[in-house]
Amino acid sequence: MSRINRRRFLSSSAAAIGAGAAAASASAKAPEILVRRPHPCVVSSANGYPHCTSKAMEGIIAGKPVVDAVVEGVTLVENDPKDMSVGYGGLPNEEGVVQLDASVMDGVSCLSGAVGCIENIKNPAKVALHVMRYTDHCLIVGEGAKRFAKAHGFKEENLLTERARKAWLRWKASLSERDDWFPKDTGRADPDLEKVKGTYGTINCNGVNSEGDVAGVTTTSGLSWKIPGRVGDSPIIGAGLYVDGDHGAAGSTGRGEANIISCGSFSVVEAIRKGMHPKDACVYAARNIVRLTRAKHLVRKDGKPNFNVKFYAVDKKGRHGGAAIWSGGKYAAFDADGNRRIDFAYALER
Ligand code: ASP
Repeated sequence: MSRINRRRFLSSSAAAIGAGAAAASASAKAPEILVRRPHPCVVSSANGYPHCTSKAMEGIIAGKPVVDAVVEGVTLVENDPKDMSVGYGGLPNEEGVVQLDASVMDGVSCLSGAVGCIENIKNPAKVALHVMRYTDHCLIVGEGAKRFAKAHGFKEENLLTERARKAWLRWKASLSERDDWFPKDTGRADPDLEKVKGTYGTINCNGVNSEGDVAGVTTTSGLSWKIPGRVGDSPIIGAGLYVDGDHGAAGSTGRGEANIISCGSFSVVEAIRKGMHPKDACVYAARNIVRLTRAKHLVRKDGKPNFNVKFYAVDKKGRHGGAAIWSGGKYAAFDADGNRRIDFAYALER
């Protein structure tokens, strides 16, 4: 695993700032270009720490397009069978089939690409990048997405790990006592499944380089045990991801349906565009979901949402933030202070 060392990161961003200053002094008559360049910065959901954020930063420092750097970062998590919310090893739908969603968006070209409900392809974020680069479309789903990926050389493979299959079977067999499926309960819990939580999980990663180029990616196996064909927020531009090349990038994890209804990531970036710090913009989007959550099955007795949604954002200046509906938890960030996890801001205190 390649890791980026903090000293190399700092000297590289300092060099970028130095280069900006040198260019500025060469044309002293144009004071408007005496602008401090942003520090490169990457944010992701907590499951991106430390490897995804490190890989993405390494790509940015190496001068790769930010959109490629963030996709390389999340690819590590898609390939990791231990992360059961993304790519290979992700939890399946109610029929035991792994269906993946992903999107990318690039602030430089102002283009996006996405796939929904793709099966048997391990790296949907890379397929989304191909949709962005090699088609005039924004979203390809299901069988068509798989055929598109295969046409571009992606291998078809089984994504259902033994652990994910066992977790699905446990869920299926304990759904009801009035069906013909018996739980395989030997009296002892399966230690392999002890930490399998199920339901939600995704990775979002957004980055900015020293030029102020911004991009983001979101990739997921979606809601576990979902109805086959269900598409979450992750491949929906404006919901699970949004990038405005002039202002910033934001993405989200958590209950996708709430995020689709509120255009969550779009509202974060719009708030940044209107002048908010990325952290406040994320709180704003989380509060918006609280405001728009009314259906009985989605609220607790006190009227507050019975689920969580989390936002992650960077702006063109190299500032970042993360916020959730409910207090607690952390997001990952790699900036001038290093690769680390940071407490979320929040809309509601637990
Ligand atoms: N947002 C994802 C979805 O609804 C799940 C998650 O992030 O936990 O598909």
